Amino acid sequence: MRCKMCRNEIVGNSIQTKNGCICQGCYDQLPNSIKASIRSFTVQQLKEVKTVIGEPFERSWVECGRLKLCMESIILNGFAIKLKDIKRISLNFHPKYPWNAARTVMGTVTVVIETKSPHIILEEPFFDRDIKAVYTIYGKNITYTYSYELEKLVREVQKAVDADTDLYDAAARYSEEVGRRKEAEAAKQKKAEAERKAREEAARRRAEEDRKRKEKIKNEKQKNQNRYTGGYTKKAQEPLTPFEQAKKMFGVELPFTLKELDSRKKELAKKYHPDMGGDTETFQQIMEYYEMLKKYAN
Ligand SMILES: [Zn+2]
Repeated sequence: MRCKMCRNEIVGNSIQTKNGCICQGCYDQLPNSIKASIRSFTVQQLKEVKTVIGEPFERSWVECGRLKLCMESIILNGFAIKLKDIKRISLNFHPKYPWNAARTVMGTVTVVIETKSPHIILEEPFFDRDIKAVYTIYGKNITYTYSYELEKLVREVQKAVDADTDLYDAAARYSEEVGRRKEAEAAKQKKAEAERKAREEAARRRAEEDRKRKEKIKNEKQKNQNRYTGGYTKKAQEPLTPFEQAKKMFGVELPFTLKELDSRKKELAKKYHPDMGGDTETFQQIMEYYEMLKKYAN
């Protein structure tokens, strides 16, 4: 079986088109958007596509994701299109999520290229992950916001197409403006970073002051509490009961024997007897306590 495009014998894979098979080599040279729906294209249409796209052989000056500018052609997703063949270049957006479900949705950006002759419209998905389009819905009005770089590059290509020039000036303008923008962005970030640090420092200082204040309050509270509990623990000692006073006076603790008690009584009586210079009151107290303690003696 021969390839309907290059007429060579097909070795290996053959790919079905709308009217016949082509070889892997011819298929590989097609843009992604056409590969994705190869069965809907006739061999004649594919041949026409091949007249406007080619291998990227030029060195590119600037690039934005998978779109690159060379001197006389652009490279998109790996294939080259000569500037002289381009009639119009634009961006399109395909929202991925139900667009009435949210105000902003993400989706796929495509680069649409319309050629002069043969007249072909190629719509290539733009894969770069960093380049996202935001699709915003305000009531029923829909606006797309493409990445600045991609929009700028496409605009410059269209300008060159309209002016029928090469892409030298377009690439220069793009580089200059993107460079300036990056510098401005970097300066903005630096400023934001400085402001963030200042805010953090202020917050840290506030937190420190707050901590000190709280500690002071805590210390004062503790002091007051100490004063309070101090007063409480130093409360006046409870007066001794007569039994305790008796034990104290006789210097005895339970259990004690009557012999011990009598011995102590003799000592105390000698010491406090009115005849020996003691007072009557104390002597009577001794006798009274003796009678009390006697009941507890063994
Ligand atoms: Zn082929």
